[in-house]
Amino acid sequence: METSVWLIGAGPGDPELLTLRAVKALQRAQVVLVDDLVNPEVLEFCPGARVIRVGKRGGCRSTPQDFIQRLMLRYARQGLRVARLKGGDPCIFGRGGEEAEWLTRHGVACEVINGITSGLAAATAAGIPLTLRGAARGVTLVTAHTEDGSELAWQALAQGGTTLVVYMGVARLAAVADALLAGGLSGDTAVAMIERASLPDQRVCRSTLAAMAADAQAFALQSPAILVIGEVAACQMSGIAPQDIDARAGARKQA
Ligand code: SAH
Repeated sequence: METSVWLIGAGPGDPELLTLRAVKALQRAQVVLVDDLVNPEVLEFCPGARVIRVGKRGGCRSTPQDFIQRLMLRYARQGLRVARLKGGDPCIFGRGGEEAEWLTRHGVACEVINGITSGLAAATAAGIPLTLRGAARGVTLVTAHTEDGSELAWQALAQGGTTLVVYMGVARLAAVADALLAGGLSGDTAVAMIERASLPDQRVCRSTLAAMAADAQAFALQSPAILVIGEVAACQMSGIAPQDIDARAGARKQA
């Protein structure tokens, strides 16, 4: 069965972070279904394709998931090569798993093309190594937002000794901080909050677990943003101007 749907990760925003495989698939695609967080510049790689935007932001209401899936199926059954473009990696908080499984069940061959997930890109863009000998022996990617409102095992995360990378956390900063503090993580634990990672207007707010909710408010932190929590969040590999790091500087920039 030849692939007729590609589930493509568009990376965190900067088009240079696309994989070659993603670019080649886009060049061959005839229909492209694009999610919200995808940088429109990426569409330069598929000038001849019909582009359909299926995201929540940008004016329209969220396109229901089952409608998107049926659209993919309809175009694939017409014999067209379909690309489904998602921010970051399709299978990290991106429903790629659901969509791939659903397409396969309906007899449509699909291929997942990895993208650089925003959690990795955000850390690097802020100068943070997510693992570091002596400081972090692992990384845990979590989402602060769940559709059913269920909670993660924050206490286990607080005690796991890994760097925590939190997606979809902007609206739940105080709750995340409280849960990790209650779980035994120190209030001094370093935190970095990276907004619009890899894009020209990226901002980085450095803080601590105890202060992160207040600092984010002063900084006017907006979604999309990634939180990096753990000792490594205090690291500063080269490449970032110091004025981008300080929360107060960020707040001044806003004013
Ligand atoms: N599949 C995506 C994640 C989708 S969930 C990925 O692999 O990156 C949406 C969340 O991703 C946002 O709430 C935010 O936490 C994060 N995100 C996506 N793009 C981002 C960016 N450029 N900068 C910071 N966070 C981003």
